[in-house]
Amino acid sequence: MKMISILGSTGSIGVNTLDVVRCNPDRFTVGAMTAGSNIELFAEQIKEFKPSLVSIFNSSKRGALKELLQSEDVEILSGEEGSVKVATYPDALLVVSAIVGSAGLVPSLAAIQSGKDLALANKETLVAAGELVLQEAKDRVNIIPIDSEHSAILQVLNGEKQDRVKKIILTGSGGPFRTFTRKQMESVTAKEALNHPNWEMGDKITIDSATMMNKGLEYIEAKWLFGCDTSIEIIIHPQSIIHSMIEFVDTSIIAQLGIPDMRVPITYALTYPDRIDCELPSLDLKIIKQLTFEEPDYEKFPCIRLAQDALKTGQTMPAVLNAANEVAVQAFLNESILFQDIAEIIRATMDNHKCQPVDTLEAVQSADRWAREEARKLITVVH
Ligand code: NAD
Ligand code: MG
Repeated sequence: MKMISILGSTGSIGVNTLDVVRCNPDRFTVGAMTAGSNIELFAEQIKEFKPSLVSIFNSSKRGALKELLQSEDVEILSGEEGSVKVATYPDALLVVSAIVGSAGLVPSLAAIQSGKDLALANKETLVAAGELVLQEAKDRVNIIPIDSEHSAILQVLNGEKQDRVKKIILTGSGGPFRTFTRKQMESVTAKEALNHPNWEMGDKITIDSATMMNKGLEYIEAKWLFGCDTSIEIIIHPQSIIHSMIEFVDTSIIAQLGIPDMRVPITYALTYPDRIDCELPSLDLKIIKQLTFEEPDYEKFPCIRLAQDALKTGQTMPAVLNAANEVAVQAFLNESILFQDIAEIIRATMDNHKCQPVDTLEAVQSADRWAREEARKLITVVH
């Protein structure tokens, strides 16, 4: 029996993770879990999975959560301190990091420092603080990606030597606006952007998929996970069936294929390096019929290059890119800015940033705070 802890249990990845646990009661138990503020769903999950420790990030909801859990034998904490306690829960072997945004950084680092393997969905953690996170994890714990592309790359790499890799081919669906003209994109609404063609996900990553910042963030995530010297090509594959590929030095390309269902990479992360049965429908290529590929349109989706530039600049720039993106996405969801302003806000925030080395967590956090403030100022100007 493997005990796990979950950071962000009420989100899309959290709910899918609990479904994997539900389907495998003889393999996994949940020792501790956190959520942001949805106490109704959180209380239901706690009653079903019976963790010993839970934490609600929004401290003002702790009292109401306690009321809902009167008959349960569970310790209830709150705030970031509570998330860290969950991340370091002594009996858990593995922590699923599924908080959205750079709010996941501190608890994810705490999990690594306490010797837990990390099943990582929270890509913003690696984007903002890749070097720091990897230094902490080195020779101590495994970071096993949940992101479907990175899970695919890990599965393809299995048993291959790193220096036989010629390049990673990172696939992306292209999002809901792949075929839109620039003119059409000027007036897209949050509702249209939230309508992803292939995946059911939280709001932030769904908007990131629409701007293709998600592919930019994944590019940075892949560089940290699989080696900064590895060449990475991004290609658009609208069907989301091939989750990524590797070309080896002999020009052979190996791909991982599957239905677009996050329970597949989540299960792999929980059982890595083993595999177990998943009661999910098999991929039927006769029904899919066609797999197509195209070059990304970097003009129409400037966020991809912004992410690549941020990584090239290094130091605190990726943390600034990430924080400015979080603020801009939220402003778009609140209808304070237009879709195409998202990239402009990020670009202007990056232009105004003076990079610092990222030798400490505080350096990352201070760049994150600066970028949020700067992006908010720029939004007031746009608005
Ligand atoms: P979501 O918005 O559905 O869920 C986020 C979870 O984090 C919720 O439980 C929320 O309550 C919690 N949360 C938010 N802020 C918090 C805070 N400050 N402290 C504690 N908990 C907090 O998001 P999601 O789609 O599940 O994505 C989660 C992460 O996984 C993101 O980083 C995303 O990029 C990544 N990811 C998601 C998918 C997917 O299919 N959903 C795929 C790949 C990667
Ligand atoms: Mg992905």
